Amino acid sequence: MSKVLIIGCGGVASVAIQKCCQQSEVFTEICIASRTKSKCDALKEKLEGKTATKITTRQVDADNFDELCTLIKEEKPDLVMNIALPYQDLTIMDACLACGVNYLDTANYEPENLDDPEWKAAYEKRCKEEGFSAYFDYSYQWAYKEKFEKAGLTALLGTGFDPGVTQVFCAYAQKHLFDQIDTIDILDCNGGDHGYPFATNFNPEVNLREVSAPGSYWENGHWVEIPAMSIKREYNFDQVGDKDMYLLHHEEIESLAKNIPGVQRIRFFMTFGQSYLTHMKCLENVGMLSTSPIEFQGHQIVPIQFLKALLPDPASLGPRTVGKTNIGCIFTGKKDGREKTAYIYNVCDHQECYREVGSQAISYTTGVPAMIGAMMMLTGKWVKPGVYTCEEFDPDPYMEALNKCGLPWQIDENPVLVD
Ligand code: NDP
Repeated sequence: MSKVLIIGCGGVASVAIQKCCQQSEVFTEICIASRTKSKCDALKEKLEGKTATKITTRQVDADNFDELCTLIKEEKPDLVMNIALPYQDLTIMDACLACGVNYLDTANYEPENLDDPEWKAAYEKRCKEEGFSAYFDYSYQWAYKEKFEKAGLTALLGTGFDPGVTQVFCAYAQKHLFDQIDTIDILDCNGGDHGYPFATNFNPEVNLREVSAPGSYWENGHWVEIPAMSIKREYNFDQVGDKDMYLLHHEEIESLAKNIPGVQRIRFFMTFGQSYLTHMKCLENVGMLSTSPIEFQGHQIVPIQFLKALLPDPASLGPRTVGKTNIGCIFTGKKDGREKTAYIYNVCDHQECYREVGSQAISYTTGVPAMIGAMMMLTGKWVKPGVYTCEEFDPDPYMEALNKCGLPWQIDENPVLVD
């Protein structure tokens, strides 16, 4: 018997909400609150009569602390699921602390305005000290650890697929497969085709910021940063085939480097087609990826936000996308004194996702883990005062839920390694 407040009603949230409604014995009541209430109402209408979960909707500006507090106090949820954008993470965490409610999200904080002088000074200091220059990092949210501990509240960060499931795979490998993990390669392959020359599979602004940034990996206790897209490998993915993949910076590297004892190297690769890369480079070269406002015919516009308005809505890609995703982690290390390798991965079919929830696999592979993370918290399996990432809890009940809730995984004990 529990009630969740879900903030956001975009591509990922609509999958998470539908999956919560499939588990109505855990999610007895859901309040969907987002900036555009009509989207919440449309989803409520789609689901009503098909689930025992009671659904209500509200409008909220999640950048506004007072509005959030009023909403949380009125709705009295057991958990707030933040599935809006990373920009809102800190405001929602503040509101959860003020109202005494547990918190969950799917992506770590980054500021919307990269020109904010206060943020910029802290960012430049971190680039120098830590050695990577991504706009997002865990420091802002880890800084809440003590406050959540003192309040007796749990904050679960990044329960999507990557971050999220990839860290659960790491915790599982650490618990069951290895005595010592030496290297981790996280491979995110999207073999789907939506038929457009250029579109992003999740929020375009967040996605394009991430992939146009320098890549980095963790090696022997420090970060190694490389120019964007400068390390490329080809890999033959089960059920997808050969794909080019590129080394990116990714948030889970940061927490895994702290939480997997003795790990020597952690890398993250994502597949991209040539058309995507060519379009992205061209848009970057002409300034369309900029987050700084410019004056245009008497209006202030932010180029990347204008671009978002032109690009296909990721939520509309579902019916057009065919093919599969394959996301997982390749481990090398030792067990019982012998060298060992293992590859834990999930394969997900875009069209099957569409048939089930009306979304493509990228929203599906993120929305299902958001629901599972919530289920772990609401059933008391993943509750511990403080701020945690997914590898810091027992992976077993989460791994079991992945198999039951649409994201079955498999283990290859003899994978081809990435050089
Ligand atoms: P969308 O842009 O599709 O949806 C975002 C939703 O948040 C929209 O409903 C939007 O409202 C709402 N929103 C934005 N700003 C506010 C605000 N100030 N107040 C209230 N609501 C707001 O994004 P996605 O669904 O693609 O992504 C959701 C999250 O999932 C992001 O944080 C993303 O980074 C993360 N993600 C994580 C992945 C993982 O594997 N861990 C993979 C993919 C995404 P409106 O409808 O008005 O625009």
